[in-house]
Amino acid sequence: SKADGRNAYHFYVAAMDAEVQARKAIERDMRLALGTPQLELHYQPLLDLKSGRIVGCEALLRWNHPQLGWVPPAQFIPVIERTDLIIPLGRWILHQACRQGRAWRDAGLGPMTIAVNLSPVQFRHSQGLVAMVTDILDQTGLAPEALQLEITEGIAMQNVDSSIEVLKALRALGVTISIDDFGTGYSSLNYLKRFPVDKLKIDRSFVIDIGQHPDNEAVVKAIVDLGHSLRTRVNVEGVESRTQLDFLLAHGVDEAQGYYFSRPVPADAFAALARDPRDW
Ligand code: C2E
Ligand code: CA
Ligand code: CA
Ligand code: CA
Repeated sequence: SKADGRNAYHFYVAAMDAEVQARKAIERDMRLALGTPQLELHYQPLLDLKSGRIVGCEALLRWNHPQLGWVPPAQFIPVIERTDLIIPLGRWILHQACRQGRAWRDAGLGPMTIAVNLSPVQFRHSQGLVAMVTDILDQTGLAPEALQLEITEGIAMQNVDSSIEVLKALRALGVTISIDDFGTGYSSLNYLKRFPVDKLKIDRSFVIDIGQHPDNEAVVKAIVDLGHSLRTRVNVEGVESRTQLDFLLAHGVDEAQGYYFSRPVPADAFAALARDPRDW
């Protein structure tokens, strides 16, 4: 009826408004958070499976909101990506990660790769991106080889020719490139072989049910072979159990990360883990 239609419409408007208000609040609060200790990077160890040693970490953004407490990045990064704030935020993340990497090196913490996630917006502003990476490496004095940039498969495949150019320019600086969430997008193998990348990171969704789901196991095996035939390292993320780790060891995966080894932790806790090798 007409009345129901109006009610539904009112409900719809209210829900839409709530969504818009939430976005505005996130943007407003992030503007205030930038440059304050509300924002912090945590670091999750990357394990080389041959040696069993920590060879690096992935930097992950954490926001301790004054009213809401810890807000997960999945809740605010997609919102910030739709605003101009992603540029200063992305710059801060890269600077902070490189500064930390340099500090660890100065503190004698062996060679560590610091992996930093790039947002799609950063990647599309390619000229600004290459200039920014150059500046930040210069300012922090981090060796370019120590920096790895992660871009998702979906972003890389959106505009293949220009992606290849950007990746080449970044690699010419000496940094390495990793394709994140691999297996969830739509990579054409034909394109993939043209991509100048150093690592494929197999998405967590493929390892969740290792030991229970033969299809996913077959996908992991196939990606390992694919990565190796393209001469890239293969990482698996989201490793939570011994069963998963044993499977990955048996199938030639090069590198792993996940709660089984460590959650993302503050910088000092990461340094302590990296200094204290243990058998997994
Ligand atoms: P991602 O890049 O795929 O990062 C991996 C996510 O998986 C992280 O979640 C990490 O904490 C989580 N994880 C790692 N090991 C395990 C595990 O064993 N089990 C489970 N259940 N989860 C695991 P987080 O930190 O919440 O980040 C979520 C996403 O937010 C990231 O996915 C990335 O897309 C984005 N993000 C986080 N930090 C940044 C950043 O600094 N810049 C950008 N552009 N995006 C970021
Ligand atoms: Ca990542
Ligand atoms: Ca990932
Ligand atoms: Ca992911």
